Amino acid sequence: MSIPIHKYDVVIVGAGLAGCAAAREAAHAGLSVCVLTKLHPLRSHSGAAQGGINAALSDEDSIELHEFDTVKGSDYLGDQDAIKLMCSKAPETIRWAERMGAAFSRNEEGKIAQRPFGGQSSPRACYAKDRTGLTLLQTIYEQACRDGVTFDDEYYCSDIIYKDGKVSGVYAYNLVDSSAQIFNARAVMFATGGYGRAFKINSNAHANTGDALSIVARHGLPLEDMEFVQFHPTGIAGSGVLISEAARGEGGKLFNSKGERFMEKYAPNKLELASRDVVSRAITQEILEGRGCGENKDHVHIDLTHLGADLINTKLPELRDLAITFLGQDMIKEPISIAATAHYSMGGIPCDKEGHVRANTKDLVEGFYAAGECSCVSVHGANRLGANSVLEALFFGRHVGQTIVEDIKNGILFNDVHISDVQNAIDELENIRKSNGDERVPALRDELQQTMTNNAGVFRTEKSLLEQREILKDLKKRFKNIRLDDKSKIYNTDLQEAVELSHMIDFSAFIVEGAINRKESRGAHFRNDYPNRDDEKYLKHTMAYMDKDGNISIEYMDVVMGNFKPEVRTY
Ligand SMILES: Cc1cc2nc3c(=O)[nH]c(=O)nc-3n(C[C@H](O)[C@H](O)[C@H](O)COP(=O)(O)OP(=O)(O)OC[C@H]3O[C@@H](n4cnc5c(N)ncnc54)[C@H](O)[C@@H]3O)c2cc1C
Repeated sequence: MSIPIHKYDVVIVGAGLAGCAAAREAAHAGLSVCVLTKLHPLRSHSGAAQGGINAALSDEDSIELHEFDTVKGSDYLGDQDAIKLMCSKAPETIRWAERMGAAFSRNEEGKIAQRPFGGQSSPRACYAKDRTGLTLLQTIYEQACRDGVTFDDEYYCSDIIYKDGKVSGVYAYNLVDSSAQIFNARAVMFATGGYGRAFKINSNAHANTGDALSIVARHGLPLEDMEFVQFHPTGIAGSGVLISEAARGEGGKLFNSKGERFMEKYAPNKLELASRDVVSRAITQEILEGRGCGENKDHVHIDLTHLGADLINTKLPELRDLAITFLGQDMIKEPISIAATAHYSMGGIPCDKEGHVRANTKDLVEGFYAAGECSCVSVHGANRLGANSVLEALFFGRHVGQTIVEDIKNGILFNDVHISDVQNAIDELENIRKSNGDERVPALRDELQQTMTNNAGVFRTEKSLLEQREILKDLKKRFKNIRLDDKSKIYNTDLQEAVELSHMIDFSAFIVEGAINRKESRGAHFRNDYPNRDDEKYLKHTMAYMDKDGNISIEYMDVVMGNFKPEVRTY
């Protein structure tokens, strides 16, 4: 059998903001660049970002304040050197995006407008109405096309070619006809986004199945801080579709079924604008204690009616549409129903602040890079602040693109690859396509998502986590016995969903093991049985490794400290 081997200087998997920004930088410097994506680039989840992108631009704000808010938001687990780098480059990143053609909303003085977001000392989120991500993604994608980047969309990457400490390419199959393809490159970058789909109620796109994490982990490489999953306070009740933090930023107030503005109890100073973990726990607590709204008492209300039709129509039009479509509620006239939703993944593929992927706590993998939500640099630590991740994707995407250019100049070798290097990946895909057992992929996926939400969600205990560990082991076993009815090769979405499920089962085990081992509460990780932060034992990053039998072992890596010493985190 022969399969095509495509050769490039740089292959990037993922065409969201991180992938497009890196591709643009590398191509602009004259390298040949190919971006693989399972969706059309403009359908990447970056396009769903509504609220904004942070940068300290105004006179009342400063880079130090942005750094401090981010470190405090991270519950002191963020690496302060990486945070410093990102915050200091944020203003330039905004100017760069604007020069590339992104049209930001403006204030009356004609300056770039900024709205307040949770955990901020000063209004810092720049925005383009409530379509910030889409505006940026369209702009950077167009610029990448202009610089000659090859975009191969509808390619599913399911393995890396990793030998002797170096990554030399990826294996992908074409979703149109399931044909196998090898992409051989000097540098490979993963920019595959988040993995919220492991949870039942989530705000993420269907494509956010965290494939890259499991691909990396199956080679024995580590994943970092996977126990930290952010639950956003305002998901549309029932579906989890996001009502952006812009709603609270513009003045939305939260009420329980007794009409109490309950944030007065949980965060007396910042109220609704406390950081996301604090507000999500408050909402979930109100529901658990029986003060939820509606027949099932399973949500609370956010009231925006006092903002008036004009403000809502000019600043939050997309949010209004979403609430009308999914709830039949018009936020101009009535409060809308919301509950916490799995939203963002702080953990991911560990890399240094230049984007080099880590092989362990000391060494780096040659020729392998990551940026955006799939990576863990770590700028968000245990909890990300709103409007910091579009910034992360855009800034680090660009920055890692520049690192790749430098590294190639300094001589990363081009290692030829052969079919034998991807034979396992080809066989595995064929096995799944032909599988003839009794288990159904949608049923297994449902079970995974529901149990992850119940046992490893907003509140966790030793008991719930140990139970989830066993459930995941069982799901992994049952996955070997799945059945696919569609055995064709043309647009086989059954096949894709099965492969995605296998990835979700693997990385979910990292979320659970990290959470079992971290016997404290920090940021988004809350243990009812260990409700306090324990800096003495756990001011450390989790680095977790999976062996061939699926067992996970954990070691810890020091946090990079800087100017800001850990303090009690109150809002
Ligand atoms: C609803 C919503 C609203 C948000 N709003 C904000 C906001 O206002 N401000 C903010 O800062 N952050 C926000 N975020 C978070 C932020 O948008 C994301 O973290 C960020 O855009 C991620 O960018 P990315 O480039 O890393 O990944 P994505 O934009 O998710 O792109 C991932 C890419 O990887 C590709 N891919 C994945 N797996 C494979 C595979 N196996 N093979 C081939 N291709 C693959 C996909 O096709 C896609 O192109 C929001 C997130 C959500 C879900």
